[in-house]
Amino acid sequence: MKRYGCDCIVRLVLHTPGYGKLVHRCSSYQAICPRRRKLAVIAALHLQRGGGMTNQPYSVHLSIASSAEIEHTARQLKVTREEFLATGILPQHPPRPMILESWRRCCAMQVNPSRRYAPLAVTHEVQLCHLREASQLLMHAARPVMSHLCDFLAGSGYVIVLSDADGCLLEVIGDTGARRRLAHIDFVPGGDWSEGAAGTNALGTALADGHVVQLLGAEHYCAGWQDLTCTAAPIRHPLTGEIMGILDVTGNYRLIRPFLSSFIAAMALQVQQEMRSLLTSTRKGEFQIAPFSSSRGTSSPAFAMNAGHKTGEEVPGTSTGDDIRSSLRMQERRAHSAALLAVAVSAISASLDREVTLEKIAEQTAHLLRLETASACLFGESGEMVSLHTWPKQYGRRSKFRHGLEALLPQSKAVSLIRERGEPVMIDDVLTSVILPAALPERQGVRSLLLLPLITARGVIGFILAPKRICYRWTVDDVLLGLTLAAHAATAIENAMLFTTLQHHTHHMEALREADRLKSRFVAAVSHDLQSPLTAIRASVEGLLDQGGVQSAQMREHLLHNIAGQASRLNRLVDQLLDLSRIEAGVLSLDRDWIELPVLIADTVTKFEELHSGWPVERDVAADLPLQYVDPDRLVQVLWNLLENARKYAASCTSIKVEARWTGNGVLIGVADRGAGIPADQREKIFQHFYRLERDQGTHTQGSGLGLAICQGIVQAHGGRIWVEDRPGGGSVFRFALPPPTASLSGPDPLEKTELIGEHGRMVTL
Ligand code: ADP
Repeated sequence: MKRYGCDCIVRLVLHTPGYGKLVHRCSSYQAICPRRRKLAVIAALHLQRGGGMTNQPYSVHLSIASSAEIEHTARQLKVTREEFLATGILPQHPPRPMILESWRRCCAMQVNPSRRYAPLAVTHEVQLCHLREASQLLMHAARPVMSHLCDFLAGSGYVIVLSDADGCLLEVIGDTGARRRLAHIDFVPGGDWSEGAAGTNALGTALADGHVVQLLGAEHYCAGWQDLTCTAAPIRHPLTGEIMGILDVTGNYRLIRPFLSSFIAAMALQVQQEMRSLLTSTRKGEFQIAPFSSSRGTSSPAFAMNAGHKTGEEVPGTSTGDDIRSSLRMQERRAHSAALLAVAVSAISASLDREVTLEKIAEQTAHLLRLETASACLFGESGEMVSLHTWPKQYGRRSKFRHGLEALLPQSKAVSLIRERGEPVMIDDVLTSVILPAALPERQGVRSLLLLPLITARGVIGFILAPKRICYRWTVDDVLLGLTLAAHAATAIENAMLFTTLQHHTHHMEALREADRLKSRFVAAVSHDLQSPLTAIRASVEGLLDQGGVQSAQMREHLLHNIAGQASRLNRLVDQLLDLSRIEAGVLSLDRDWIELPVLIADTVTKFEELHSGWPVERDVAADLPLQYVDPDRLVQVLWNLLENARKYAASCTSIKVEARWTGNGVLIGVADRGAGIPADQREKIFQHFYRLERDQGTHTQGSGLGLAICQGIVQAHGGRIWVEDRPGGGSVFRFALPPPTASLSGPDPLEKTELIGEHGRMVTL
């Protein structure tokens, strides 16, 4: 609204529940033009949606794992920026919170978003010399670190930049091509890259908000540097904590690399450490800084050093015995840490199981940093904390500890710094920290804390938490060691996650292949099973027609019987297919009722005997079986199918036996025959749809391989299971077990049910 700069005569007031009134001030009623009214309404709606809240989840994240994602993100950011600049309010897909805050600051400072080059803070070499002289401690301390960075990033298209505390560039070194491009926008020593001068940019924004900043393309507020990516970290005075300058790496936007955030933060810490040793040496009077020579653009400050300064270029033959001894001790410490680090890295990379890897990371962090406990935590899709693993395990299981971490940390600024910026967080005394909840020391007994980001190509995926019970000044060595471990840890987690994804894909592919095989079998089986009765019907109909309808009554009756038989076979098959599709879709509904199982079995067997007179069925059914709460029709269907199979697959008139008894934890029903039995390796397969034993395929025994699959579906829908065993003396026994009714399956009369269950003891799952 501000950018329309209206006077205050007429007010357009929109009420937004929970946020009060949004007031649009204009010089006259006419001045509230439709566009402004629309903007005000959009703003109000946005506030209603919660867009005005700073802790709102943001939708434009840096998705930069692949070049396609970088391009997509860059395009999306362009749209977001244009929308923001056009409307002045929160865009539909807002950028990251720190970017939005910076854009708002730029708006307030009236930075021109169409800027194509930054203003110069100084225009003369002499002025530049003065500027550098004013930051000589910083420049001197940064020199070895920058030269290390230059070697590390050699040939990768990056420049390495140092600015002073006002955002004025002191040094720009590195890739020549990139430096040439940057010279066009006055990204040269003497250039002013504060936010107020150059809009949102890593240097200026890191200065403005005091934290690590990584920017991509159109996250830059000004149009002139939207083809760049930059990552910057503030360098603080080692004693006062005041920001002395900014260390930055800048290159083409396609070069954005998430790991650079914590890397530059670590480098900035090293500059701080260098400054500390320089200050100590200065106090001892061991070195002085020579005046600058003017060397704009490719500057390389000239320092003259006395004996004993441990950074930069050593002056040969000037070290004292003390320095050599302390340097040796430091080297020894570093060598020891490197050995421990090597062990830790092997330990955390040993497994491809994500949970085991997280446990190992916590354990190895604790070993490496000599801690009582440590934790590793991952962020979920929407940035919430998931998979918190603590070492030792019993520590993590203590509900107070776990609850505290899970409840207190997510809302803390410390975790949002990690999540949003990939910035390592060191807190020497939690009691004096403003970025952690005050309850943490009291509830958790944590007094100092190190939070190390876990960064992969996909961005920040989590963090390592290294707590101490006492106040502790974390050293740069601690942080560097921790960050190195964290870098390996992130790779190990990524590997484990990729492995899991790969496994899922493999299973999925296997399932798809199996589904394809089943489909082919299904099509073949259904076409065959539909074809044979249809052929038989057609033959009979043709038989009836052929002789001009003049057949003997006996023949006609025979043909009609044949048609009726084949039609009911078709009907059965269609019914079976429908049942199967219900079972597959998990929508087989049961019409349960309380039934007397012995009666149901007796009726079914009697009907079977009536239909197949040559097959007497032996019965062994316990008379005192409890009432069952089942679907009687479906249960008859199972029994009937087993009896039919016992008849179909055995020599005629061999004995069939039906038995039913209470086992103590359910009812067990069996149908035994004296057929050829089922080979052991086929006993599970015969319950798959369309599966028929080889010996039965192509024989006169009719069958579709669906009956047992449907029986299994019905029994499982009742919570039971079905299987086949050898029958002693030859043949097979098909058994199915049904569990007693559970409390959740309340029948029509709960009292009746309680009685029934009580009679047979507790309910047990089979
Ligand atoms: P269908 O009997 O229609 O082929 P089922 O699913 O009922 O289908 O049976 C699957 C296969 O299991 C049968 O084709 C047969 O090979 C075998 N089978 C089933 N019951 C028996 C049994 N009682 N004795 C021997 N083999 C059997």
